[in-house]
Amino acid sequence: MNVALRPQPSTFDARLDRLGEVAVRVGLGLAPGQELLITAPLDAVPLVRRITEHAYRAGASLVTTLLNDDVATLARFEHAPDGAFDTAPGWLFDGMAAAFRGGAARLAIAGENPSLLAGQDPARVARANRARSAAYRPALELITGFGINWTIASFASPAWARTVFPDLPEDAAVARLWDAIFAASRIDAPDPVAAWAEHNAALRARTATLNAHRFAALHFHGPGTDLRVGLSDGHLWLGGAETAKNGITCNPNIPTEEVFTTPHSRRVDGTVRSTKPLSYQGTLIQDITVRFEGGAIVDAQARAGQEVLRKVLDTDEGARRLGEVALVPHSSPISASGLLFFNTLFDESAASHIALGQAYRTCLEGGTTASEAELAERGANSSLIHIDWMIGSCDVDVDGIDAAGQAVPVMRRGEWAA
Ligand code: ZN
Ligand code: ZN
Repeated sequence: MNVALRPQPSTFDARLDRLGEVAVRVGLGLAPGQELLITAPLDAVPLVRRITEHAYRAGASLVTTLLNDDVATLARFEHAPDGAFDTAPGWLFDGMAAAFRGGAARLAIAGENPSLLAGQDPARVARANRARSAAYRPALELITGFGINWTIASFASPAWARTVFPDLPEDAAVARLWDAIFAASRIDAPDPVAAWAEHNAALRARTATLNAHRFAALHFHGPGTDLRVGLSDGHLWLGGAETAKNGITCNPNIPTEEVFTTPHSRRVDGTVRSTKPLSYQGTLIQDITVRFEGGAIVDAQARAGQEVLRKVLDTDEGARRLGEVALVPHSSPISASGLLFFNTLFDESAASHIALGQAYRTCLEGGTTASEAELAERGANSSLIHIDWMIGSCDVDVDGIDAAGQAVPVMRRGEWAA
């Protein structure tokens, strides 16, 4: 099969082009005749152009891109009237939802400055996020419910690179971040599309094993952590590629290393300590320790960013409860890089994690057609937020607890037990 193998691309332009190809062919699985909606930071235009070309080559009928500009976002927080922070462009999100209902695929490029809003009033940031989340919800449900094929890929913007490598000159920081993105996205493999097929098969085998166990709960234990996470009734483990309701198989995250499912919103008890800082809207929330009772966080401490954490927990009723639990081995390539990316797409691929807030319908048997009431009854949480934070490390063990209460080793010292 060596005719199909291409040499490893040496130039930056060739690697960027490959990332564009992987985003379209692996990330989206774009079908001929499909429309594509892209959102991206202004810096990411070179990647948007590569993706757009690959999309048209794959038969896209129309590619539409919405660019956002960090400088303009900052201008709002610095100069807009205080009363204006509960405003969101509902008309835009309604239009996005209409595009998805009409069959458009969705590609988001992550790469914004993680510290953009660090100096802004946390209350204003929280209000703006709340308004945006509420307006975006109908479109977001079509995405997270896999009504359409979608994906997220990344672009190493200078501001992001400076945050990850504060001690390097900007050019060197950007180059290092690109190397990390290309490696994690399997762009440097001889055949990236084949490498993704192999990776997806390995993740599928892992989810099949976990689904066969039908665990009632997971028990995390490690330094500062003794947490029992009950799993929702009829939960499903997912990871890697997914087949959307339109029949198209996509890889929603480029890169990805996690397998994940839906915890039971009322059956989480114990204490858990974060193993990596959580970067949230420009604030670094560090050394989080929280205690759960009956599924809800009843005590939350953080060495840094505690005020922001408290505001997040007060977003709504579901913000104190879990919507996701995910397992990632400590030896995953992103974890092995030793970097903190200040970007969930990468950091959640570096360690086992939990997410506060909204659950994924797709992680429940029959979940995409079940009513909201049934989902809630089975333990699926509902919230305007979904925030992942890392609780796994080489010091954390995980047991599966079966229906009879017996513990089965799942992870030992951060690695798969079997
Ligand atoms: Zn996750
Ligand atoms: Zn998540």
